[in-house]
Amino acid sequence: MASNAISNQLPFTKEFKESLFLIPEGENIQTCLQCASCSGVCPFGFAMDYPPGRMIAWMRAGILEEMLQSDSVWMCVSCFACTEICPKEIPITQALMTRAKEEVLLAGNVPAELQSALEFSQQYGNPLGESSRKRAAWTEELDFEVSIVRKDKRPYEFLWFVGDYASYHPRVKKVTQTVARLFHMLGIDFGIMGPDENSDGDSQRLAGERGLFEMLAEKNAKILGRCEFNEIVTTDPHAYNAFKNEYPRLGFEYPVRHYTEVLLDHLDELTPKLKDIGPIRVAYHDPCYLGRVNKIYEAPRQLLQAIPGIELVEMAHNRSTSLCCGGGGGGMWLDGFRWEKAESRLSEWRIREAVTVGADVLAVACPYEPPRFEDATKTVPGAENIQVKDIAELIFAAIEN
Ligand code: SF4
Ligand code: SF4
Repeated sequence: MASNAISNQLPFTKEFKESLFLIPEGENIQTCLQCASCSGVCPFGFAMDYPPGRMIAWMRAGILEEMLQSDSVWMCVSCFACTEICPKEIPITQALMTRAKEEVLLAGNVPAELQSALEFSQQYGNPLGESSRKRAAWTEELDFEVSIVRKDKRPYEFLWFVGDYASYHPRVKKVTQTVARLFHMLGIDFGIMGPDENSDGDSQRLAGERGLFEMLAEKNAKILGRCEFNEIVTTDPHAYNAFKNEYPRLGFEYPVRHYTEVLLDHLDELTPKLKDIGPIRVAYHDPCYLGRVNKIYEAPRQLLQAIPGIELVEMAHNRSTSLCCGGGGGGMWLDGFRWEKAESRLSEWRIREAVTVGADVLAVACPYEPPRFEDATKTVPGAENIQVKDIAELIFAAIEN
């Protein structure tokens, strides 16, 4: 039985450094200025023995082994803040940190909670260990039918890739149902994979399990290859990133959009239905994999600004400097380990920023976020009355009002 303590086996291969050069722009690592901007901006840099800039310095000195024996890599939430700020455009997140996780994982130095999420992903096709038969159970509470593409064989406008937390998590399922109601109301033609859907695998990849990611991607691609659709739509920025940037590297290419982009296309139809729900101050949290990684900053804000009664306010960290919720890069499965190590939760930092700007609502657009931020409102002083709402929930509230 693994424990949360990291063992001290030798977790490295001699090819580590060379392997970074195989990743697009990975060779830029040789141009590092040692400016330490990456380590400074890293939300968990304070709790790492080897924050990214220091890792590079140790690599240069040829003493990579000691860095790889530490547990620093498991504090990385793959938030891309270091990559975004690096003046030499070094792909720190996708090359250095992800490759380092792969090596440490290969050596078996894995926190127990991450290990079990990875095993569940392999065994059940999702990190929660849920039955694939229950993937579409969220549709049963709707008062209209949702097509499962394998059963109802026909061409669809959208294949909705629902994702793990959006399918199974009790709080997030409510958001999924709300998005389905909005799509139905707008006459958007969509079908879901239901029991045939597997985890998109992107968070497993970023947690160092590339082989598992490839296995999950191949399973999804096999089903998608049998379906007819124009585009994939997803509420999950991690799935969006997988389909946009990672599946094509395996030869699986699909046009993909986030649901906020699809709803924005229907803004002319939505606007007359939206009633005043104000006055409320709403702060929007840019999810790392929607904003910083894939540069979708405006569609969520335009939807929020279209709702009468909402005053949209910006927190100190917004758009490309947004603060991670702590769930990325396997963070959803490392909360216990990170709390032991850092005694700090990134979700609480974010809620403190929402308190500072006097927000009544923290608006989100990623399935990882409602439960994480709702938990944080219970512990951050002054946040008791802050509500955490997905953008779809705010739109639906304005229609129902
Ligand atoms: S921000 Fe870039 S250049 Fe500066 S220390 Fe980090 S990796 Fe090196
Ligand atoms: S990706 Fe984020 S958490 Fe990971 S090293 Fe970079 S800044 Fe730190």
